[in-house]
Amino acid sequence: MPELPEVETIRRDLLPHVVGRTITGVRVAPGAERVVRGDDTFARRLAGRRIGDILRRGKYLLFRLDGKGEPLFLAVHLRMTGSLLFRRSGDPPDAYIRAVIALDDGSELRYADLRKLGQMWLVDSPEEATGRLGPEPLDAAFTAAKLRGILSGRRAPVKSVLLDQRAIAGIGNIYADEALFAGRIHPLRLAGSLSEAEVRRLHRAIRRVLNDALGNRGSSFRDYVDAAGREGTHQLRVKVFRRTGQPCYVCGAEIARIKVGGRSTHFCPHCQPEGDTDVATTKRRPD
Ligand SMILES: [Zn+2]
Repeated sequence: MPELPEVETIRRDLLPHVVGRTITGVRVAPGAERVVRGDDTFARRLAGRRIGDILRRGKYLLFRLDGKGEPLFLAVHLRMTGSLLFRRSGDPPDAYIRAVIALDDGSELRYADLRKLGQMWLVDSPEEATGRLGPEPLDAAFTAAKLRGILSGRRAPVKSVLLDQRAIAGIGNIYADEALFAGRIHPLRLAGSLSEAEVRRLHRAIRRVLNDALGNRGSSFRDYVDAAGREGTHQLRVKVFRRTGQPCYVCGAEIARIKVGGRSTHFCPHCQPEGDTDVATTKRRPD
């Protein structure tokens, strides 16, 4: 499933191409009612609007649509198999297209989705689409102190808190596992039990992992492609995610897989010991 780095890659790809363009028409494919919410009015409300900006909150893309009075946002959530492709109208057809938004320069945004689990819909404000979301982990305001506030007192496994979009926005299964490995934190540790040093380490790890993935244009384990239909390369650089049974790049131990909150979780039992303490980690690698 696309997470923050994948959705942000698509946003950055689309920005120079679609901002300032006016929507001339919208086609919704037969059988795509579940994907395009409110499709009887969807096309009519979009036509004639100018794309003013593209925002991202967590895993949501939000197109700000100017003109025709009240502000309007097109919200897109890709879920498992959705992708948003930027094409010229004469380009060869893409598979599983559910909706096409035509723009005034002959380009178009094609929404493709094999399993039809993603959604596009219109809202008056970003919050109406996203609901309550936690802070953006790559924003300057997301400090170690902020993370400490999010984790403190929570008796859930730290992995589950990282996946909770109301706690922190945009992290999914891939980057939760990678961040915990980079921070040398066992995924089952209770969030509230992390020491100051561990929280600082995890904070740095979250930002580094997300920035690295963004630099590699996201991870394409299965279906994710960018706005040009190309795969990212970060799946080649993950340290633990889906590496069960393979040697840890740091210590050589076998990467283990467990379930945490129903989600497959990959970690190194040696680098991420259950009973890690400040003293032990300070001795091993002072930070
Ligand atoms: Zn290891």
